[in-house]
Amino acid sequence: MSNLTNRQVLLNAHPVGFPVDTDFKMVETPAPAPADGDLLIRTIYLSLDPYMRGRMNQGPSYATGVEIGDVMTAGTVGQVVASKNDNFAEGDFVLCGNGWQEYAVSDGQGVRKLDPTVAPISTAVGVLGMPGMTAYVGLLDVGELKDGDNVVVSAASGAVGAVVGQIAKIKGHRVVGVAGVQKKCDYVTGELGFDACVSHRSETLADDLKAACPDGIDLYFENVGGKVFEAVVPLLNDFARVPVCGRIANYNMTEPPSGPNQVPSLMQRTLVHRLMIRGFIVYDRAHLQDDFLREVGGWIRSGQLKYREDIVEGIDNAVRTFQGLLRGENFGKQLVQVSDDPTRPA
Ligand code: NDP
Repeated sequence: MSNLTNRQVLLNAHPVGFPVDTDFKMVETPAPAPADGDLLIRTIYLSLDPYMRGRMNQGPSYATGVEIGDVMTAGTVGQVVASKNDNFAEGDFVLCGNGWQEYAVSDGQGVRKLDPTVAPISTAVGVLGMPGMTAYVGLLDVGELKDGDNVVVSAASGAVGAVVGQIAKIKGHRVVGVAGVQKKCDYVTGELGFDACVSHRSETLADDLKAACPDGIDLYFENVGGKVFEAVVPLLNDFARVPVCGRIANYNMTEPPSGPNQVPSLMQRTLVHRLMIRGFIVYDRAHLQDDFLREVGGWIRSGQLKYREDIVEGIDNAVRTFQGLLRGENFGKQLVQVSDDPTRPA
């Protein structure tokens, strides 16, 4: 295997603010050889997700960060090219966490086989993987979706938001999305069946959202923070729930937002309206994995739930594509295709 070259993207510096090209470094090394018990995996799809921005930082968070000189972390879908592990055979498709690189050796721990006849293998890091599971547990378990809830979700056309809105629609709710540009709004209303969608880039966001939510908001699925959250808060009804999934608008901030301290008024509103604002991390709810796969898998097979992937080719485009994700340039679940997918028709 030593004749295989492994291109890897390493963290070169902890970004200060928006990550720049020099925060990363591409290196070429010989692909590692599997020892007894190991398998060598070729990366096919590399999942790019907003959480990676947090992993680039120094300091404590809910997960360990990437050290300078380490391969950037990522969920990946790959194919076993050599196996010295009885549980895996050459040619198997697998879900693993091999990061931003073309090849990796694993002892099989945490590696899950994928059956390409059940679902496209790329979905294992998308609608049937971590982002889909995040939507499912955040909406139903953390958010305690109730009959009659008026639902709003931000980053509505993205990997998580699109699934949130569609599950709420399947369950009979009125759903309003918030997205960046018109084509994303058209997609969530036209293709995904949301009732309305407003742009957070509009000067009149607060008014637009109010007009789109004539009965207020009972459940806001928070993906972005910033001015979207500020527009949502005055519209929250009594007993509204806010599962706090992400705050991408803040991920590149180097200082707290300027302006008056809004914590006292938010806490007052939380008391008066008996709000529930609850952060969660998807893996806190791992016990719901089987329910998620059964229900969401079923909705995909029946055509009730759609998904969209934004696939960019080539590991050398990983950094540029990640930067684009932070700017809202992705349209759907962001993937980088690192090598051929033999399961996908040409
Ligand atoms: P998306 O596929 O939705 O991509 C990110 C999107 O965020 C962009 O396309 C853009 O959409 C939007 N965005 C970027 N900057 C801003 C901004 N300043 N204001 C408003 N919107 C912005 O990503 P995911 O669906 O994978 O993730 C959505 C959120 O969920 C993220 O915050 C992520 O960190 C979080 N998450 C949390 C998990 C958990 O366990 N808690 C697990 C997985 C994800 P647009 O063009 O519409 O603005």
